[in-house]
Parts: sequence; structure tokens; C-alpha cells
Amino acid sequence: MNLIETKPVGDANFYKFSVDFTGDDFILGGKTLPLGIITHDILNIPADKLLYVFKTGDKLNDLYNRLNAENYSDELFTSIWNAVEKILDIIGKIKPFSYFDIRGEYEHIDLLLGDDKIKEWQRSFSSLPIPNINFVPEGTAMHDHIIVLTEFIKSYIYLCADTFNFYKVAMMYFVNLTENGFRDKVLLAGFTKEFFGKEEVAEWIEELNATEITHNFTLEPGVWMAPVVLENKNGSAMLGRRIHFDRMLNFYVTDLFEGLAAGHYSWQCGICHRFFFMETAHKQLYCSTVNPEYGVPCAYVAKNKLNMPKQKKKDGFGYAIWKKRYDSLRNEKHKTNKNLPSAKYDVDVCDKAIELAKRHYEEAQIDFDYAQNQYEQDMILRNLINEAKEALGKK
Ligand SMILES: [Zn+2]
Repeated sequence: MNLIETKPVGDANFYKFSVDFTGDDFILGGKTLPLGIITHDILNIPADKLLYVFKTGDKLNDLYNRLNAENYSDELFTSIWNAVEKILDIIGKIKPFSYFDIRGEYEHIDLLLGDDKIKEWQRSFSSLPIPNINFVPEGTAMHDHIIVLTEFIKSYIYLCADTFNFYKVAMMYFVNLTENGFRDKVLLAGFTKEFFGKEEVAEWIEELNATEITHNFTLEPGVWMAPVVLENKNGSAMLGRRIHFDRMLNFYVTDLFEGLAAGHYSWQCGICHRFFFMETAHKQLYCSTVNPEYGVPCAYVAKNKLNMPKQKKKDGFGYAIWKKRYDSLRNEKHKTNKNLPSAKYDVDVCDKAIELAKRHYEEAQIDFDYAQNQYEQDMILRNLINEAKEALGKK
């Protein structure tokens, strides 16, 4: 008997995957990510790619119907193989799908539909009186293989349709959220309750379903969940919950609602209309990525446009981290000045660290690579102290 799952999570395939949830994060395919990021990534899928995925999924659905209606043919199986690979070629390179085990996914396609396997399918079907998937005798190995194959194909059909449908729902939700300006947990919860409680929203979602296969679009996912013991970065144990998903939509909906419950949300930039991701109720209005039209970040564009509301400095990128670090360093300096027993650092080290923190904050305002990849790390107290000591030639 296994009451608590302790084995490392393994599955990260689209047809069957497990995700570990702990605190405000989840772990998928070995990557730790903040709740809500899946929804956010879907909102930022380029429109042309989204449409391509949807259309290719629809073609795959047609092929799946043919598979049920027609007898075996190389052409049909090869067409299915091509359609699945087309989908994977495009989604494998974009978030959130790139969090999954893409290489394993290609291997799996090859196992089910590769050249060797197609020869095997051909041999197996030619031995049947009616070479159709619905006439494979039960209890045979071939029957088991057919079940795996059809589940696999369906997972791709669902993935394509679910992503498209979910995108539309999430888009409507977050555009509305941005317009209303609701950002903290209580407001997020209230808005969510009202939004999804509305009759017209329910009707709209119902009508939205672009394919027949996703008729059961639901906001109440059915999932398998188990308690799990995880390990944090320092090797200490953490308790979490492992959810097994067999359909993308269930994962999307779980991510959306768990994210909102944690106070994570996507916000639409008032300049470029792309969404940026927030893990606090901070009032950042514009994204901090470089606007391709202007060559500077959207916050700068807004500054120079007369009709745009200005973003306050304290609401801008990195300010909260800087302020917190500035306060803690001043506190350290105060302890040293007062000769308190808890004092740890010399006054000149504290002053230097304060100076460095300000420099990093300023750098994060103009260097967006630095802001995204290095700023947070540099602002950790221990790192600032070490950097200050090094600059002063102290040990
Ligand atoms: Zn922007």
C-alpha cells in the first residue's frame, strides 16, 4: 500500500501527464513554474500559430473519423502520422508545450506510426477478415496497440481544440479583468465568481466550441489527485499534490483557477496589448519587454505619449524588490550603528550594498535581458553583501 506518492514524477507526454503542485508553484517535466503561467503562455501564443494548430487538429479529427469508417490503408496511417508530426513540430517550440518532454513525444510517435510500425500495422491488418480498427479481436496484443494508438491520436485532437477554446475564454476573462483593474486576491476571486457565474458567459462558452469533439467543454475538471512528497532546492521535504491529467483542458482550467487563487494573473499591456504575468497585486500597467515598433519598452513608450496614463515608479518593474532590499540593508546598518548583538555587517559594507542595489535597479530599467535573467539573483541579500565586500576588498 502506498499512501503518499514518493516516486519522482515521470510522465510529461501530452496523452498522459502528471503535475506536482506545491505552494504557489507546480512542477512539470522537471521544471518548477508559477501557477497561472500555463494560461498566460496560451494567451501569448501567436495568432497565426494558434490558428494553424487548430486547423491541423481539425484535419486530424477528419482522419480519425476515416480511421473508424474505413479499412486499413498505408495512406491513411501515413496521413495520421504526418498530421501529428505537423502539430508537434509547431507546438514543440512554443510555450507552454515546450515544458513537456518533446523528445519523448517524437519517440512515441515513431513507436506508434513510424516506418517500421506502419509495416507491422500493414501485416497485422492483412491477417484480419475485415481490416478495420473496430474489428480487431479483443484480448489480442493488436487490440491493445490499437487502443494506445487511438488514445494517442485523440489526445492531439483534444490538445488542438482545447487550446483554441481555452484561449478564447481566457482572453475574454483577462481583457475584462484588465479593464476592471482588479488585481488583489479578493478582487480576483470576486470577479471570477461573477464572470463565470454569468448566464451569458456560460452560453457564450457553449457556443464557442468550434468542433464537435469538444462538446463537453467544462470548467469543472475531472482529475486524479494524490498527496506527494517533494524535495525543495535545499533537499528538504515538502508536501504537495500530484494531479494526473489525461486531457489538456483539465490542466488549463486547473492552472487558471489555482493561479488566480494564488494571486497570479495576466495583465494586458496598455501599449502593445500583449499580456504580461504578475505574481503580486502590483499596479504595473505596461510590459517591460521591448516594443518592436518603438525599440524601447512599453513603459517608456507610455511616458512619451501624452494621452497614456503614466506608470508610477513604484509600480514599475523591479521596484518592489529594490525597496525591500533597501529597507533590509538600512535595518542591517542600523543594527551595526547601535551595536546590537544581531549586527552582522560593517557600516561601509551596508552602504556599498545599498549603492549596488540601486545600480542594479537602474540597470534593470534599461537592460531587459538583465532584468529578466539576472536582476532577482543579484538582489538577494547574501549576493549583495558578497558583492559589496568584494568591491571593498573585504572578506
Ligand atoms: Zn507592452
